[in-house]
Amino acid sequence: MSEKPFRIKPAVTDENEHFWQGGADGELRFLRCKACRSYIHPPAPICGECLTKDYAPEAVSGRARLVTYTVNHQPWIPGFDPPYVIAIVEIEEQPSVRLTTNLVNCEIDDIAIGMPLRVVFEQLDDETYLPLFEPAGE
Ligand SMILES: [Zn+2]
Repeated sequence: MSEKPFRIKPAVTDENEHFWQGGADGELRFLRCKACRSYIHPPAPICGECLTKDYAPEAVSGRARLVTYTVNHQPWIPGFDPPYVIAIVEIEEQPSVRLTTNLVNCEIDDIAIGMPLRVVFEQLDDETYLPLFEPAGE
Protein backbone atom coordinates (compact mmCIF):
# COMPACT_ATOMS: atom_id res chain seq x y z
CA MET A 1 0.00 0.00 0.00
CA SER A 2 1.54 3.26 -1.10
CA GLU A 3 1.47 6.17 1.31
CA LYS A 4 1.07 8.66 -1.48
CA PRO A 5 -2.30 9.17 -3.09
CA PHE A 6 -2.67 7.87 -6.60
CA ARG A 7 -2.30 10.61 -9.19
CA ILE A 8 -3.02 10.59 -12.85
CA LYS A 9 0.32 11.36 -14.48
CA PRO A 10 0.39 14.25 -16.91
CA ALA A 11 1.69 13.76 -20.43
CA VAL A 12 5.09 15.45 -20.41
CA THR A 13 6.09 16.89 -23.78
CA ASP A 14 8.82 19.23 -25.07
CA GLU A 15 6.30 22.05 -24.80
CA ASN A 16 5.38 21.56 -21.15
CA GLU A 17 8.37 19.84 -19.52
CA HIS A 18 9.53 23.15 -17.99
CA PHE A 19 6.26 23.14 -16.05
CA TRP A 20 6.21 19.53 -14.90
CA GLN A 21 9.94 19.31 -14.16
CA GLY A 22 10.40 22.66 -12.39
CA GLY A 23 9.64 21.01 -9.06
CA ALA A 24 12.99 19.21 -9.24
CA ASP A 25 14.51 22.63 -8.53
CA GLY A 26 11.62 23.81 -6.38
CA GLU A 27 10.54 26.20 -9.11
CA LEU A 28 7.17 26.89 -10.62
CA ARG A 29 7.87 27.77 -14.25
CA PHE A 30 5.86 29.16 -17.10
CA LEU A 31 6.72 30.19 -20.61
CA ARG A 32 7.33 33.93 -20.70
CA CYS A 33 7.20 36.10 -23.78
CA LYS A 34 10.49 37.94 -24.37
CA ALA A 35 8.75 40.75 -26.25
CA CYS A 36 5.88 41.78 -23.94
CA ARG A 37 6.93 39.80 -20.82
CA SER A 38 3.58 38.04 -20.51
CA TYR A 39 3.45 34.56 -19.08
CA ILE A 40 1.93 32.03 -21.46
CA HIS A 41 -0.10 29.28 -19.86
CA PRO A 42 -1.13 26.75 -20.93
CA PRO A 43 1.85 26.52 -23.30
CA ALA A 44 0.97 27.79 -26.76
CA PRO A 45 2.93 28.21 -29.99
CA ILE A 46 2.60 32.01 -29.88
CA CYS A 47 2.13 34.65 -27.20
CA GLY A 48 -1.59 35.38 -26.79
CA GLU A 49 -0.86 39.03 -25.98
CA CYS A 50 1.46 40.14 -28.75
CA LEU A 51 1.53 37.11 -31.10
CA THR A 52 5.31 36.74 -31.13
CA LYS A 53 7.01 33.37 -30.94
CA ASP A 54 9.97 34.46 -28.87
CA TYR A 55 9.57 32.98 -25.41
CA ALA A 56 11.36 30.88 -22.84
CA PRO A 57 10.55 29.18 -19.54
CA GLU A 58 11.00 31.37 -16.48
CA ALA A 59 10.44 30.73 -12.78
CA VAL A 60 7.85 32.68 -10.83
CA SER A 61 7.77 33.21 -7.07
CA GLY A 62 5.34 30.37 -6.43
CA ARG A 63 3.01 32.76 -4.64
CA ALA A 64 -0.64 32.70 -5.65
CA ARG A 65 -4.16 33.51 -4.50
CA LEU A 66 -7.19 31.30 -4.25
CA VAL A 67 -9.78 32.19 -6.91
CA THR A 68 -12.31 29.48 -6.18
CA TYR A 69 -12.47 25.94 -4.87
CA THR A 70 -14.66 22.94 -4.40
CA VAL A 71 -14.47 20.23 -1.79
CA ASN A 72 -14.77 16.83 -3.31
CA HIS A 73 -16.42 14.19 -1.14
CA GLN A 74 -16.68 11.52 -3.81
CA PRO A 75 -14.05 8.78 -4.04
CA TRP A 76 -13.47 9.34 -7.75
CA ILE A 77 -9.86 8.28 -7.73
CA PRO A 78 -8.77 5.04 -6.03
CA GLY A 79 -6.34 5.69 -3.17
CA PHE A 80 -7.04 9.42 -3.19
CA ASP A 81 -9.36 9.69 -0.24
CA PRO A 82 -11.99 12.40 0.09
CA PRO A 83 -12.52 15.01 1.17
CA TYR A 84 -9.94 16.84 -0.86
CA VAL A 85 -9.93 20.35 -2.23
CA ILE A 86 -9.85 21.14 -5.93
CA ALA A 87 -8.80 24.75 -6.36
CA ILE A 88 -8.28 27.34 -9.05
CA VAL A 89 -5.43 29.67 -8.17
CA GLU A 90 -3.98 32.73 -9.90
CA ILE A 91 -0.27 33.40 -9.75
CA GLU A 92 0.95 36.59 -8.11
CA GLU A 93 2.93 37.78 -11.13
CA GLN A 94 0.01 37.61 -13.55
CA PRO A 95 -3.51 36.84 -12.29
CA SER A 96 -4.64 35.75 -15.76
CA VAL A 97 -2.38 32.72 -15.33
CA ARG A 98 -4.52 30.23 -13.47
CA LEU A 99 -3.92 26.67 -12.41
CA THR A 100 -6.39 23.99 -11.45
CA THR A 101 -4.72 22.24 -8.56
CA ASN A 102 -5.26 20.86 -5.07
CA LEU A 103 -5.05 22.73 -1.79
CA VAL A 104 -3.02 20.80 0.75
CA ASN A 105 -1.96 21.26 4.39
CA CYS A 106 -5.15 23.22 5.02
CA GLU A 107 -8.23 22.56 7.11
CA ILE A 108 -11.37 22.91 5.03
CA ASP A 109 -12.85 25.34 7.58
CA ASP A 110 -9.84 27.62 7.12
CA ILE A 111 -10.21 28.05 3.37
CA ALA A 112 -11.13 31.54 2.17
CA ILE A 113 -11.41 32.97 -1.33
CA GLY A 114 -8.46 35.27 -1.98
CA MET A 115 -6.25 33.65 0.64
CA PRO A 116 -2.51 33.78 -0.06
CA LEU A 117 -0.97 30.49 -1.13
CA ARG A 118 2.42 29.14 -2.00
CA VAL A 119 3.40 26.28 -4.22
CA VAL A 120 4.56 22.91 -2.92
CA PHE A 121 5.52 20.03 -5.16
CA GLU A 122 4.51 16.42 -5.09
CA GLN A 123 6.98 14.22 -6.95
CA LEU A 124 5.20 11.73 -9.18
CA ASP A 125 8.26 10.10 -10.74
CA ASP A 126 11.85 10.92 -11.70
CA GLU A 127 10.86 13.73 -14.01
CA THR A 128 7.38 14.81 -13.04
CA TYR A 129 6.40 17.09 -10.19
CA LEU A 130 2.85 18.14 -9.53
CA PRO A 131 2.44 21.73 -8.29
CA LEU A 132 0.03 21.90 -5.33
CA PHE A 133 -0.70 24.86 -3.10
CA GLU A 134 -0.80 25.40 0.66
CA PRO A 135 -1.66 28.45 2.80
CA ALA A 136 1.14 31.01 2.81
CA GLY A 137 0.06 32.82 5.97
CA GLU A 138 0.02 36.60 5.96
ZN1 LIG B 1 4.04 38.65 -25.92
